[in-house]
Amino acid sequence: MDSQLVVSRPLFKLTEQQLVLLRQRRSECSSDPIANEYDAFMLYPGMGPAIYITADGRIIWYDYGEWGVGDSLTLKDAIFGVVAGIPETRIESLREVLPRRPNDSTTCKLCDGSGRMQVPMLTKSFICSDCGGLGWQSNSMPLDEVIVNRVVPAPV
Ligand SMILES: [Zn+2]
Repeated sequence: MDSQLVVSRPLFKLTEQQLVLLRQRRSECSSDPIANEYDAFMLYPGMGPAIYITADGRIIWYDYGEWGVGDSLTLKDAIFGVVAGIPETRIESLREVLPRRPNDSTTCKLCDGSGRMQVPMLTKSFICSDCGGLGWQSNSMPLDEVIVNRVVPAPV
């Protein structure tokens, strides 16, 4: 399979201050054709497809042919990308772009609200697969909604 980019519709609103921090970090990294072409910032380099956020708040998954992420990525996958990007970028304020917890929400049972899952026998924890790291779920937040806008060939 050829490498491709899966691009979401705009989902997150980045503030000027967050953009300044993201641009600063990007300028310290080596040149990246995806970042350049899409005005995007790497959130997470892999363990799966690399994940970017664009200046206009889209999420891009760079599938270089192995992961087959396809066109069925959901809001939960996008939230996962932002959550994964917080420790990776060390930009703690990115947490503010995540949806706010509504009144009708319930605490995620799988992670007990922590947003992370401990795996027995491993010392590492992982972002919760049920809530994408939010720690809650709500009927007014359609985590399983497909948010793909387009799938295009990767520029690399
Ligand atoms: Zn959870």
